[in-house]
Amino acid sequence: MPLYQNQTLKIYNSLTGEKEIFEPLNDGYVGMYVCGPTVYSYVHLGNCRTFISFDLVFRYLKHLGYKVRYVRNITDAGHLENDAEEGEDRITKKARLEQLEPMEIVQKYTVDFHNTLQKFNNLPPSIEPTATGHIVEQIETVKSIIENGLAYEANGSVYFDVLKFNESEDYGILSKRKVEDLIANTRDLAGQSHKKNPQDFALWKKAEPQHIMRWPSPWGEGFPGWHLECTVMSNKYLGEQFDIHGGGMDLKFPHHECEIAQGTACNGKPPVKYWMHANMLTLNGKKMAKSTGNNILPVDLFSGDNEVLSKAYHPSVVRFFILQANYKSILDFSDEALIASEKGFEKLMNAIQLLEKLTTSKSSGIDVKAWKQSCYDAMNDDFNSPVLIAQLFEAVKYINACHHHKLELTQEDIQTLKTTMSDMCFDVLGLQKIDVESKVDSKQNELIDLLIDLRNQARAVKDFKQSDAIRDRLLELGVQLKDTAQGTSYEFSN
Ligand SMILES: [Zn+2]
Repeated sequence: MPLYQNQTLKIYNSLTGEKEIFEPLNDGYVGMYVCGPTVYSYVHLGNCRTFISFDLVFRYLKHLGYKVRYVRNITDAGHLENDAEEGEDRITKKARLEQLEPMEIVQKYTVDFHNTLQKFNNLPPSIEPTATGHIVEQIETVKSIIENGLAYEANGSVYFDVLKFNESEDYGILSKRKVEDLIANTRDLAGQSHKKNPQDFALWKKAEPQHIMRWPSPWGEGFPGWHLECTVMSNKYLGEQFDIHGGGMDLKFPHHECEIAQGTACNGKPPVKYWMHANMLTLNGKKMAKSTGNNILPVDLFSGDNEVLSKAYHPSVVRFFILQANYKSILDFSDEALIASEKGFEKLMNAIQLLEKLTTSKSSGIDVKAWKQSCYDAMNDDFNSPVLIAQLFEAVKYINACHHHKLELTQEDIQTLKTTMSDMCFDVLGLQKIDVESKVDSKQNELIDLLIDLRNQARAVKDFKQSDAIRDRLLELGVQLKDTAQGTSYEFSN
């Protein structure tokens, strides 16, 4: 029996503003779509957080036993500068600046994106379609929206008729905006004069002579509007309606609002059951921006090569840090916070190693089954990873207490701890096992060896007061000495 039959998962639905019990459209199957990157630059940390958040969702749904089809697109055309309706294509602009073909830019930054997410131990999506690979489908969708009377052609471009759509549907339903307010707040910029109304958005854009990424269409040569590809590719691979649509908070408006409008205009029903949005991140309390220098790339974290960092961090430590905040909260990156996370991460890995060495008892001093369910309860509560991590640290306390013979655990309970710790840390949170002892730098090992030598010298002259003091002080620092026939060894405890 799949686990989901015994667990009640709740998801915060951005569309309704409520936590709702998750009931997929087809029993046992989940269709999930997440807006992928526009591949015109190195992936930034904010994007990584979004994709790690949805990797957590993907992993947990799979862990519960659902068959999940996870579609995440690559935007390789149609995304203009500043998310605007007019301007240069981001990829074309970068191609000009780097003196490369647009598709060389796409390849270069797609490879970087995949490499970075792989370092973070993200699972690849089930399907990763590209906008340029679905031009034919996008043209067909534009045609059907025109046929349904909700789009119009003007001077070689096709625009979505927001006011017409809003007569029978609710444009603004996701972002809680009213069309009247949008009209009042939209300034009619030069170049938008072919639209009936300034809030109408492009489904297809006429290509100006300098625009090199262009395709033939019934309306002349052009390229698809940015919002269209997600509607078309989610519809193609997940159907007219699917379960979960995710993305960064910044995509809620206009991008996701436009997706709802396009999907509804096409199929007569809203495309998505649960909308999920991951929040942004800041660096040292301030918005990240290249222009102010308050900026950090994932590669900097792994190399330590950035002035805001004191050292390099393992990608799993960064992932652990990210998951210590709920995906809906703003996350602030700082060197101090990463150092604290690294300590916590090592403590966790240490406890997992210790689990192999525990001695079993006839009875248990704690209710391990209840603890296990509390881990699931945390994840069932809208993928609340910080609460799950707090539960994992409860287990660290049990493990250390058992190791120091201050808590008894049965063999069965130790086994439950082992499988649950492994399931939650590696399958669900997606952390990578790091051998903690090998991470300790050699200087520290040399210092411990020196103290062992001093203790042995004290023992040789029967100065047991001194030798015991060294042993006890080391134990306080988390270093446990073990005297064997082969000499003195040590291990790190907590
Ligand atoms: Zn999208």
